Amino acid sequence: MEKQRILLKNAQIMDPRNHFEEILDLYLEEGKIKNLGKNLDIPDAEVLDLTGKWIVPGFVDVHVHLRDPGFPQKETMETACRSALGGGFTHLLAMANTKPVMDSPEEIETFYKKAQSVPVNVYTVSALTKDLKGKTLVDMEACAKAGALGFSDDGFPLVDLALLKEAMEKARELNLPLSFHEEDPSLIGTPGINEGNISREMGLKGAPAYSEYSYIGRDCALALDWKTKVDIQHISTKAGASLVALFYDLGANVLGEITPHHFSFTEEKIRTHGTMAKMNPPLRTEEDRLGLQDLFSHPSFVLATDHAPHTEEEKSVEFSKAPSGILGLEIAFAAALRHLVKEGKVSLKDLIEKMTYLPAAFYNMEYDGIQERKIGNFSIVDPEEKWTVTRDTFKGKSYNSPYEGEEYIGKIKYTVSKGELFSL
Ligand SMILES: [Zn+2]
Repeated sequence: MEKQRILLKNAQIMDPRNHFEEILDLYLEEGKIKNLGKNLDIPDAEVLDLTGKWIVPGFVDVHVHLRDPGFPQKETMETACRSALGGGFTHLLAMANTKPVMDSPEEIETFYKKAQSVPVNVYTVSALTKDLKGKTLVDMEACAKAGALGFSDDGFPLVDLALLKEAMEKARELNLPLSFHEEDPSLIGTPGINEGNISREMGLKGAPAYSEYSYIGRDCALALDWKTKVDIQHISTKAGASLVALFYDLGANVLGEITPHHFSFTEEKIRTHGTMAKMNPPLRTEEDRLGLQDLFSHPSFVLATDHAPHTEEEKSVEFSKAPSGILGLEIAFAAALRHLVKEGKVSLKDLIEKMTYLPAAFYNMEYDGIQERKIGNFSIVDPEEKWTVTRDTFKGKSYNSPYEGEEYIGKIKYTVSKGELFSL
């Protein structure tokens, strides 16, 4: 089924800004949502009966690593899009730690040329500093003109305070966000593992929780004073999330990303899954995990995955030598249903907002949701289907994940992206 005439019957539309929880038919013609209504009858259209299924607007992930250009052994833009479709994501924002680094208008233009040919709406940030070195700012204006939706040295924090202030001023003029990976390197021994019981048992000095929230406090404070849009990436601690919520309430234009792994697991996961549970910032304690769940409904937070493919070879080495990063796109929605919605931490409506409209708006991403005359970007969910994560769950080249064996209820069955329907 390609960009044809497809009539989706009797689906429950779950778009928080259009027709929430309304049972309607949706007619997709040549990639566009032609009609949305009751009892549609379209002669010669292919019909899919979606009784009992949901149609949700396409998910937006503002934190993914596509590994393209530079790391085709891990993933390419094309193979990463398979992961996105598998998880119901139709809009992705790529990080800049590619090879070469995404730090010039030329690289960004090349990225967008390639992005035209993939089935997902793919965007990129620009690096904030040249080669992610934290020394010289990129030409922010030129990179913005080339299409960068924001600036991030993700993977590394910006240590230099003078440079940070300069970046804040420039970003405010451009009305684009700065996105920060918050870990003070001077406080960290081995990254990717919480400094705590497990790290002590393994004889490692890990990454203490305060290495994160000391930087979060600093950057939220600057965001408040400098009136700059700031995205605090992949928050792993309860204290860090509390700071983001506090500064948001004080008037700072801050967004906080909370990842499925940080609300699903604790540092204990390293006992059973080793390097597959290694990421920066690391999995923390049960108090942190529950704290992130409790704070998730606050309006400052969105869901982002930090999807980060690595090969099996790279992950099959001793813990301290393995690269940090795990996958997240394919399981994000199901994990959120289980740990947040079912636990009463957030309503389904708000969860969908936090996976669609909110992150898209923060980055000024073009995003329509489910509306007539717009290109189809949505997915079809069976809310009752029980399933278990296996290696086959992961649709890209890599399968580095601590989720294997997890059981979920609610599965993405089809994703329509850029108007094309993909069966999963
Ligand atoms: Zn990061």
